[in-house]
Amino acid sequence: MTAELIDGKKISQEIRKGLEKEVAELTAKGMKPGLAVILVGDNPASRTYVTSKQKSCRAIGMESVLIEYPADVSENELLNKIRELNADDSIHGILVQLPIPPHISETKVIETISPEKDVDGFHPINIGKMMTGQDTFLPCTPFGVMEMLKYIGITSEGKHAVIIGRSNIVGKPMGQLLLNENATVTYCHSKTRDLKSFTKQADILVAAVGRAKMVKAEHIKQGAVVIDVGMNKDENGKLCGDVDFEDVKDKASYVTPVPGGVGPMTITMLLYNTVKSAQNRLNNRNDK
Ligand code: NDP
Repeated sequence: MTAELIDGKKISQEIRKGLEKEVAELTAKGMKPGLAVILVGDNPASRTYVTSKQKSCRAIGMESVLIEYPADVSENELLNKIRELNADDSIHGILVQLPIPPHISETKVIETISPEKDVDGFHPINIGKMMTGQDTFLPCTPFGVMEMLKYIGITSEGKHAVIIGRSNIVGKPMGQLLLNENATVTYCHSKTRDLKSFTKQADILVAAVGRAKMVKAEHIKQGAVVIDVGMNKDENGKLCGDVDFEDVKDKASYVTPVPGGVGPMTITMLLYNTVKSAQNRLNNRNDK
């Protein structure tokens, strides 16, 4: 048996088509969705992500503003810019591209973004809402994974989902979203003993580690759904995931490719959250 590919590009295109229509409707009502992206310093990977996010915004008719600072910008100047954007009615989403230089507190940056414009879903208020199952902005990468599972008709209820990785932006919220959908969730991390003994139990295995091709056929159960969040360079400098695709493809039932899997979904859910924020604003305006 060869695993079916979960085509993140195709799923993204379908979702973006729907969003484009919503953007046109919101624009006609005077509420064109706008995303502000702040880039600090000149990290080439960050610049690539930011450019791609901006292009994707514009492609569906949204407004996208890029604000750039040199790496030595003061924390105060950055926080003041965020406050200014919080008060700007043309901006519905604010994103500070991480990582930021160490002299600036990431926690302060995230907590200064208004929860109503926190389209990355990193603000503690939004994380709390996610944990308690309330409507909120969900973190884009795990949200994208949930949309992929939905698209291929995989339900999480009663399944054993194993997450490798427990970062605040991917691993932890990933497990929480699967738990919210009634999966039984196990988290693995760098201190986990005998990783394989856990991953082999997974009906749904999500790898969010950052280690090229570490997940092999021996780590997975026959027929598992394997989601690869990792974005790494292989020995030839080529983009690859945390999963050894060639090794697992005859054992898994579904697998996401890298590139073309989770990556495009992450940006799509960022667009989704920004459109949702503009819609929320319109609803609030109409309620007044
Ligand atoms: P982090 O480095 O923040 O977290 C990595 C996690 O993996 C940690 O929890 C760490 O454990 C765990 N880990 C490290 N080594 C091992 C090991 N040998 N066995 C088991 N667990 C291990 O990374 P992120 O969560 O930010 O990102 C993970 C990957 O996903 C990266 O490749 C990143 O580039 C990619 N990514 C892709 C996105 C996309 O859109 N496709 C978006 C965001 C990230 P511990 O907590 O103990 O240190």
